[in-house]
Amino acid sequence: MTSPSDHIYSAIIIGAGFGGLGQGAQFVRDGVDDFLILERGNDVGGVWRENTYPGAACDTQAVIYCFSYFLNLKVSRMFAGQEELQGYLHALSEEFGLNERLLLNQNVTEATWDEEQLIWAVRTAGGERFLTRSLVAAWGQLNEPNVPAFPGSDSFQGIAFHSANWRHDVDLVGKRVASIGSAATAVQYVPEVAKVASELTVFQRSANYILPRDQIIFSEEETERFLADPDSYRELRQSIHELREAGFERTRAHTAANQEGVELARQHREAQITDPELRAKLTPDYDYGCKRILRSDEFYPALTRDNVELVTERIAEVTPTGIRTADGAEHEFDVIIYATGFKSHAFHGSTRVTGRGGISLDQRWGNAPEAYLGITVDNFPNLFLVYGPNTNLNHNSVVSMLEPQHRYISQAVRYLADHNSTALEVGREVLEQFTTYLQEELSKSAFSSDCSSWYKNEDGRVINNWSGTVEEYRSKTHDLRLEDYLQPAEQGAR
Ligand code: NAP
Repeated sequence: MTSPSDHIYSAIIIGAGFGGLGQGAQFVRDGVDDFLILERGNDVGGVWRENTYPGAACDTQAVIYCFSYFLNLKVSRMFAGQEELQGYLHALSEEFGLNERLLLNQNVTEATWDEEQLIWAVRTAGGERFLTRSLVAAWGQLNEPNVPAFPGSDSFQGIAFHSANWRHDVDLVGKRVASIGSAATAVQYVPEVAKVASELTVFQRSANYILPRDQIIFSEEETERFLADPDSYRELRQSIHELREAGFERTRAHTAANQEGVELARQHREAQITDPELRAKLTPDYDYGCKRILRSDEFYPALTRDNVELVTERIAEVTPTGIRTADGAEHEFDVIIYATGFKSHAFHGSTRVTGRGGISLDQRWGNAPEAYLGITVDNFPNLFLVYGPNTNLNHNSVVSMLEPQHRYISQAVRYLADHNSTALEVGREVLEQFTTYLQEELSKSAFSSDCSSWYKNEDGRVINNWSGTVEEYRSKTHDLRLEDYLQPAEQGAR
């Protein structure tokens, strides 16, 4: 579909994952009709389209990993698998008519603010141009695979791939497989690969805190009850939300609650691992909450299988036949899987965003991205970020953070529709005050303590995580406060 190039949309959403589709649904709920969703992939789903590795599932309970106005009532289990979550997002698109507003295979390369017309001009790799009053960037945080540049990586003669680009055409049955990384992704596929590989070697740089997952499979009767009486589902949702909110205290450094988290993880480890040497290797040497807390009942048992080995020696190089570790040991493999995460600080996605006065988001941010409420940035009028800086969580569902962002942005877009000759640009001081408050709170958090973590930039500043509870965030974002934004006279005076 080609757009009439002079039409000015009320909003363009970039990205069709949970963040972008939820924003679209919120617009439809609020009567905002004239919007478009541009997605660079060939389907909706975001991370749930991209991550198809065996065992891929959400380690957050499905009943809180859905929108309050579109409950995932038919979900078959508490911790839903990738296909079921992708199905939920398809159903959401269907329910809110988002498919008619969606253009796939549209890689947005540039977005430029037009100071005269107070609109954004958006360009795609395919050469199309779209105009919009508001730009909603919902391109996600975790979609650029990170493959460490180990010496010799290119020399490996076997098959190597990243977990987000799983090679389903590669049969792992009877193969010698290496898994580099042992975090959220690896703990999900390692148990599956262990069942088929002849040998599986897990290279772990840091141990993780892992809690029991305690999967629950919903019976047919339960699902029927949820469908017939959604309030029963809402009650369950609320109770799990409250339980997870209470877990926020565990992310505060040097507290009794934080120690309680350490203890729960220890009990889980000791219940599943009897070998003292293996237990020691799996014991984290940093504060609970510094990295994401994982949930798995299968990872530790997989490591105790005869065909599985955990290696904690540093990787020195990749060789044509496998991996050499720092102790000089040669490990031979047919396949290397990189579960080494994502380039998570790419809050600007792959789009060059140019705001007022020709300043780019990269220039504005340097290595310390910041946004008021995680949503708006000075010098970038009418730009709204979904899942932007400091909106990630460790203790509760990220979807419960997305919904308040969607509501806030919808308020802004409706305000702009009614006030054609104005723009919404957050004041620099407002953003600075917010950042000071946020960083002060974060300094009391385990996120700021000493460990390698994608929550922080290279200076140790936490740029991914929110500092408080979901309820605190909901309250701060409940109303669009126009006084936080520059008045037209101030905008003109700059
Ligand atoms: P990750 O959390 O960034 O973990 C990367 C792993 O690779 C870590 O074990 C890391 O070790 C290791 N690693 C990175 N560079 C390395 C190097 N040069 N040498 C050796 N090891 C290296 O990535 P992920 O597991 O893919 O998870 C990313 C995020 O995706 C998660 O935090 C989560 O937000 C999301 N996710 C969510 C779910 C879910 O169920 N909701 C599931 C999967 C992923 P260090 O720990 O030492 O850095």
